[in-house]
Amino acid sequence: MPFALPLAARVRPREEDHGDIQHGNTKLGKKDILWVWDLPAVTTCPGRSKLCEELCYANSGFFRMPSVTMGLARNLRYSHGADFEDWLVSVLKKRAVQVLRVHGSGDFYSQAYAISCWRIFRRLPHTAFYFYTRSWRDREIMPVLAGMALEPNVEAWFSTDKETGPPECALPRVKIAYMLTAGETAPAFPVDLVFRDEGHLPGERVKRAGGALVCPYEQGPGLNVTCAKCKICFREALRGRP
Ligand code: SF4
Repeated sequence: MPFALPLAARVRPREEDHGDIQHGNTKLGKKDILWVWDLPAVTTCPGRSKLCEELCYANSGFFRMPSVTMGLARNLRYSHGADFEDWLVSVLKKRAVQVLRVHGSGDFYSQAYAISCWRIFRRLPHTAFYFYTRSWRDREIMPVLAGMALEPNVEAWFSTDKETGPPECALPRVKIAYMLTAGETAPAFPVDLVFRDEGHLPGERVKRAGGALVCPYEQGPGLNVTCAKCKICFREALRGRP
């Protein structure tokens, strides 16, 4: 029987297939401490709900521009490559990245890819990593996420909405984020942080929803907040670095 190479070894990417990380955006804060690693939305999201697919910000606007979709597809192709882990580690080191948001767009699409990311997190203890994910709904990926969350330089948020419901059990160091949608004034179950998709009325400021903090960037108009200033979502990962 012919010897079969593992998939990662067979799909070594061409030079022009190299992916890239981006330096911040309007919400994260431009040219600040935050960088982001993105993948195409929806197709890489095995734990998506119908609701989040419908409302996904990463499936419209800026993310649909041809140059952006090409870059996302390139990142995905590259994440299958044999040297993905070495490449991302070297890029993060070269750019002295302090904080990486993993998946401003996209998600952990397979157990193998999630394990690769976990290895990267472990190889860079001086970098803080944080992510929001619905891949906790995938039974193969969930245990990997639970393991990642225990790394001191990692902050894991399980994303939820009224369709997903809450995860079956609480996991150490995993926090719950909730996407509040039209018609809801509070999350359907206890959570740590609320994101608002329902928009806000002019002049309205909403700091808490059902007792949970609303992301300060989304509390209302006129607030000069970026993630780089706020840090709520990755403060523990920053503190966990040596
Ligand atoms: S809570 Fe803070 S760090 Fe988290 S998404 Fe909102 S602004 Fe960014």
